[in-house]
Amino acid sequence: MTFRIGLGYDSHRFTPDRPLVLGGVTIPHAQGLAGHSDADAVAHALTDAILGAAGLGDIGAHFPPADPAWKDADSIRLLELAHDRVRESGWQMRQADITVVAESPRIGPHARAMAGRLAAATGAAAASISVKGKTNEGMGWIGRGEGIAVIAIASLEPLR
Ligand code: MG
Repeated sequence: MTFRIGLGYDSHRFTPDRPLVLGGVTIPHAQGLAGHSDADAVAHALTDAILGAAGLGDIGAHFPPADPAWKDADSIRLLELAHDRVRESGWQMRQADITVVAESPRIGPHARAMAGRLAAATGAAAASISVKGKTNEGMGWIGRGEGIAVIAIASLEPLR
């Protein structure tokens, strides 16, 4: 069977004056993430993974950060639009595995809700989307709580 695999990475810095949105879920936390859009690093990493798998470049090419249209944008909507372009090229997302690297907050309690929103945006089954959390064992910029990094891998199958 023919399939494609793509890898996405994203990171954002914590900032005190915004809500924390990850995977389309607003998570109670003292800090949010800085960025032009809602800074949803989970949605951004997955968007890059599906665009990469389809050979369609990256999120910045499709949704330029300089474009005022994407200011404070709902990144789940960007993921939906990116997946529309993936479909137009003959593919659809089948499965994804996502790791969020952050000292806090804990990701596990929100993983299922995130998978549900990511599934709704891509048409994949929620059970085929895995969201996991890891700390960085106190090391480096993540360990100091300066921000969050996300790694996502996604597979595409031919559009039926
Ligand atoms: Mg980003």
